[in-house]
Amino acid sequence: MQKSWVSSANDGQTDFPLQNLPFGVFSSGEEGPRIGIAIGDQVLDLGGCVRQGLLDSLEGPLQRACCAPVLNPLMELGRGAVTALRQRVQALLDEEAPSKIRSQVGALLLPMARVTMHLPAAIGDYTDFYASLYHATNVGRLFRPDQPLLPNYKYVPIGYHGRASSIVVSGTPVTWPSGQRKTPAGDVEFGPSQALDYELEIGCFIGPGNALGTPIPISAAGEHVFGVCLLNDWSARDIQSWEYQPLGPFLAKSFCTSISPWIVTMEALAPFRARAFTRAEGDPAPLPYLSDAEDQAFGGLDVTLEVWLQSAQMTKPVRIGRSSSRQLYWTLAQLVTHHTSNGCNLQPGDLLGTGTISGPDPESRGCLLE
Ligand code: MN
Repeated sequence: MQKSWVSSANDGQTDFPLQNLPFGVFSSGEEGPRIGIAIGDQVLDLGGCVRQGLLDSLEGPLQRACCAPVLNPLMELGRGAVTALRQRVQALLDEEAPSKIRSQVGALLLPMARVTMHLPAAIGDYTDFYASLYHATNVGRLFRPDQPLLPNYKYVPIGYHGRASSIVVSGTPVTWPSGQRKTPAGDVEFGPSQALDYELEIGCFIGPGNALGTPIPISAAGEHVFGVCLLNDWSARDIQSWEYQPLGPFLAKSFCTSISPWIVTMEALAPFRARAFTRAEGDPAPLPYLSDAEDQAFGGLDVTLEVWLQSAQMTKPVRIGRSSSRQLYWTLAQLVTHHTSNGCNLQPGDLLGTGTISGPDPESRGCLLE
């Protein structure tokens, strides 16, 4: 495996080897938010690279996008631009880079421990799906033991429009929500939630958007996905169970959604692509607008996902869930295509949540509700 001259990128433990190079937005000292790339335990200042002429081989719009305070302009440029940028940055950080490059780039690295991370994009819209069959089945069983899955589930990717304004970057304190609930005794009262929950999800950032009225065909949907992050869809279950009928989640979820600060690009995830979910014998095939041979063969993602809990009173964190993105019934491309199939426009920086990702066994449940 190719190594970097940044030694912390090669220790076999880091989340940020030369093969990852995720994008984020950081600030340090007096300087405002700007785009960075994670490498080992360091952050590379991308705008600094442009000003030093280290990205002169790239096109003008791409260089300008690297100097923005959010990732939206880079997202808008699409996969070709991201690939070119990735190849150039990989060359700059490669252990075979010339010593002059190393010293120039070295001056643009900051220790990750000393920077503040911000939301990576201006998120115009946020949609949360319900794409794990096992989560939908487990939750459905709580309400409808006889018919856990509603009849539409295997035909239509279920989702709802979430709240973009309350998405925060991981580490931001979460204010405990209050709301209405119905008590077991049948009274209706208002107060702090007594059933605050997490939801283990993947967040999917949209790259280039689509014009209003112009659906994205499934064969092109991959071109519209910039990358993914972790997403925790905080959920107040007592508020949710009282308010959700008939229009779905509202205040039970809109108080806060946390995302990880680093977006891993689809280029970096190429080795982790997998077959789409294998549907059970007798399940309906996806309708033609959601069906694509290449997406079925490579549109899945094979990434292990874990939930760890640590409280002030615990001496060490405990793992309380372990699941996999292979459990998603729908691919990211199918979510994008379905979302735009009525002509709805997605825009660069929009965020799609997959919904809680649970697997078939108890250990793989992605929230406390299950
Ligand atoms: Mn959710």
